[in-house]
Amino acid sequence: MRDYIRRFLIAIIMALCVSLLFLGGKHSEAASLTETKASENMIWPSDGIISDSYGTREGKHKGIDIAGKMNTPILAVADGMVEKSYLSDTYGNVVFIKHPNKYVTVYAHLNSRSVSKGQSVKQGQIIGSMGKTGQATGTHLHFEIHRLEWRYDKKFAINPEKLLGNAEVGGVVRAGAARNGVMVVSAPVKTGTDKKIVSNTKTDIHYTVRRGDTLSSIATEKNITVAKLKELNELTSDLIVPDQVLTIK
Ligand SMILES: [Zn+2]
Repeated sequence: MRDYIRRFLIAIIMALCVSLLFLGGKHSEAASLTETKASENMIWPSDGIISDSYGTREGKHKGIDIAGKMNTPILAVADGMVEKSYLSDTYGNVVFIKHPNKYVTVYAHLNSRSVSKGQSVKQGQIIGSMGKTGQATGTHLHFEIHRLEWRYDKKFAINPEKLLGNAEVGGVVRAGAARNGVMVVSAPVKTGTDKKIVSNTKTDIHYTVRRGDTLSSIATEKNITVAKLKELNELTSDLIVPDQVLTIK
């Protein structure tokens, strides 16, 4: 009888071990899936040129810098919820987005912010514009990625290149492009509580960009060249956004 109980107990312990192994395996599989998914999904937040990389300034630079023109649109790199949107002494106008996979992304030195705390955002949605507010010497986006949470010591910061692909200083990046270079978002999603642009499409001199428009489709429709369109509007890239007002003459 005693022997029977002992065998029974051993069987239970073995079953527990097997299920723990199984659960442990499942867990790490899930973790790596999350990471893969995050890396596949994120897009570059703005057009520009990489002006500083992660880990410089004696390791204190916990983000990546993208230099560009004042008011270049800044996009959410993935779906998420605005955790903070405020004016900081150091970061300047800054937006923090918490993503479903627990990553937090930070967009600093913005000239303007177009989202507020608690608002949910879609990937590619414009959250603000590039600027040089706070402790910034030139117009650029300072972008950070943190696992789990942002902390003052930036303990959980990771190199954005891990998720967005390699970006050497001097390299050009495109808003809406994934790490493989594929454009995930061609014209940024513009939703939320942005104020309506008053001008309309009825004038001859201006054209208001509609969703799905490209520079070449507008050029064809308005009988103008893409180069002329870009020149008239001082565009440095082909990126246009819905509701953007373009000069066409
Ligand atoms: Zn920076």
